[in-house]
Amino acid sequence: MRWPRSSATCRSSWPTPPCRGRTRRSRWPRTSTTRGSTCRAGARSTSPSSSCARPTPTSSAACCSAPTSRCSPPTGGCATSSRPASSPKSCRGSSRTTPHGCSDWGADVPVLVSDATFGIDPLGFAPTHLSAPAQDALRGLQRVLDDTVRPLLTDAWESATMPPAILEALVPLDLMQPRGVDAAEAESSMFSGFRNYVLARTDVSVATLYNAQSGLFRAAIRHGGSADQAAELDPRIRSFDLAGVFALTEPGHGSDIAGGLATTARADGDDWILDGQKRWIGGADKADVITVFARDTADARIKAFLVPRTADGVHLRTMTGKVSLRPMQNAVVTLDGVRAPASARLLQVNGWPDVARILRVMRSDVAWIAAGLQAGALDAAVRYVREREQFGRPVGGFQLVQEKLARMLANLTSSLGIVVQLSARQDAGEYVDENSALAKMQTARLARETVALAREVVGGNGILLEHDVARFFADAEAVYSYEGTHEINSLIVGRALTGVSAFL
Ligand SMILES: Cc1cc2nc3c(=O)[nH]c(=O)nc-3n(C[C@H](O)[C@H](O)[C@H](O)COP(=O)(O)OP(=O)(O)OC[C@H]3O[C@@H](n4cnc5c(N)ncnc54)[C@H](O)[C@@H]3O)c2cc1C
Repeated sequence: MRWPRSSATCRSSWPTPPCRGRTRRSRWPRTSTTRGSTCRAGARSTSPSSSCARPTPTSSAACCSAPTSRCSPPTGGCATSSRPASSPKSCRGSSRTTPHGCSDWGADVPVLVSDATFGIDPLGFAPTHLSAPAQDALRGLQRVLDDTVRPLLTDAWESATMPPAILEALVPLDLMQPRGVDAAEAESSMFSGFRNYVLARTDVSVATLYNAQSGLFRAAIRHGGSADQAAELDPRIRSFDLAGVFALTEPGHGSDIAGGLATTARADGDDWILDGQKRWIGGADKADVITVFARDTADARIKAFLVPRTADGVHLRTMTGKVSLRPMQNAVVTLDGVRAPASARLLQVNGWPDVARILRVMRSDVAWIAAGLQAGALDAAVRYVREREQFGRPVGGFQLVQEKLARMLANLTSSLGIVVQLSARQDAGEYVDENSALAKMQTARLARETVALAREVVGGNGILLEHDVARFFADAEAVYSYEGTHEINSLIVGRALTGVSAFL
């Protein structure tokens, strides 16, 4: 979608001062469509985040369909009729009169437009790095997100539950091997990155849920399992026939899990006996199997096991009281003498370096999520500041607000630059710890700033779920910490820069 623009005939009622209920012609570019679909006169979408649905002070009674070219100017006709009566003098041509003089806002000002699926992407990362079928597949995903997922998000957040309808809507899209997309591209880091980006641009909990299967669990099997295990399980993972999660973190060991991992695996004949506790395990409540990392009591090496959630000795406790990613369920998983057959062991995990290899692959996905959430926050902020008026004009017209928007776009564009290049290198076969750590560290740091700026420009409404930025604001905190905190990723980068490990 491109940001819709006012046309000369577009009317809107501005119920707030200084209009005081008078109907007048809009002189400002309006967001009168919702993600590609034009609002009908007086219609209100049920989508909580659509510009038509939101009870903004200026929601259009009669939205105009927009000339959507990237550089189409605001319409001059609306401008002249909305000029304050007290304007000191009139301005010529496309300039407009303000109480302080003439402004050229009505000239041919280029206006960045937001694509319905990829957001505001002035450097064109998506069209440059994705084939047309891949873009189409993600546009299909966006339609489902808008039609089915978005309307559920506010209640999901309030109730801290993930509606089953969300995954039920996403699974049939076959997003790990979408129809029409070349198999190599569907498997690529680039496509998986943009998939996470699109998901996170709508909601980070949904992206995290999907990525628990497509990223964490799938990577564990593909990179931790033998060739036979991967060949057998991967198709089932792609179709969600086998839902799995990744259980590495423990109550006593987060950042120091490599050396500290305390869950044990003891060989007993052909079986293994697992004891210990895992924490923060995303999606465990619905999983068929939990990928448990445990230390072999015989050789002290870390090994990995696929444990059915319903196996004897497995106990789950849902973590409550979260202020970030509320709909996404995380669990404490207790393993109490759980018996796993030899066939449940992932054969390519024989020590921490193998776990690190899996983490290296997964980390780029989180960097993409950090980029996507910035795109969602920026879109929501731009929508809002174009609509919200103070001092008789949209707040988007104030210089201090525009500086914040520019910074948000700069953060987003920088983040996209990093993740796109990281994925390009990974698709060329180059997986480097410090590169994925650098990307995760920087994008998550920028995301935190971007969502804070978005929250600022939306004012008090920025803490309300209905304006979207509140979710992004809160969710950026989880992204900042999971799959390696800022500090741990910076230590990986610092070690590469100096040759000295500063972990201990
Ligand atoms: C929403 C969410 C979902 C998650 N999902 C999963 C999941 O599905 N599976 C899973 O296994 N884990 C999951 N995790 C766990 C996540 O990976 C850990 O939270 C993360 O690794 C950090 O560990 P910690 O929270 O225990 O922090 P700690 O390790 O206790 O760190 C606390 C603080 O100390 C800092 N610190 C620690 N060591 C150093 C050091 N040497 N130098 C400088 N600073 C240091 C950290 O950076 C951090 O700021 C999830 C976490 C969250 C929040």
